[in-house]
Amino acid sequence: MDARSLPREVGPTEDGSRLRIVWQDGAVSELLPWLLRTKCPCAGCVDEMTGLRTLQPETVPPDIYPESIHYVGRYALQFIWSDGHTTGIYPWDLLRRLGGDHSGSTPSA
Ligand SMILES: [Zn+2]
Repeated sequence: MDARSLPREVGPTEDGSRLRIVWQDGAVSELLPWLLRTKCPCAGCVDEMTGLRTLQPETVPPDIYPESIHYVGRYALQFIWSDGHTTGIYPWDLLRRLGGDHSGSTPSA
């Protein structure tokens, strides 16, 4: 695995509204819970045969939040969502993609 795709720190932003991941290469991703939930890669949200997303984003509450976050080995995070959804496993490279690349910049609050 590319070491740059591994996290150095994972935690909430200061205002608690986003999940912040600081990557090994110093890049920072700040991820909205709603975005993460709508991008859930599990078989309940994406059709395994077609790869098409079956989850409708408008069915996800805008105020959704992770009740807890678990590490899955060294390669992923699992989110326990406030809507009861628990099967989403998010590999680091997916989280990195969702967060964009802000290397070298300090996100403003
Ligand atoms: Zn899912």
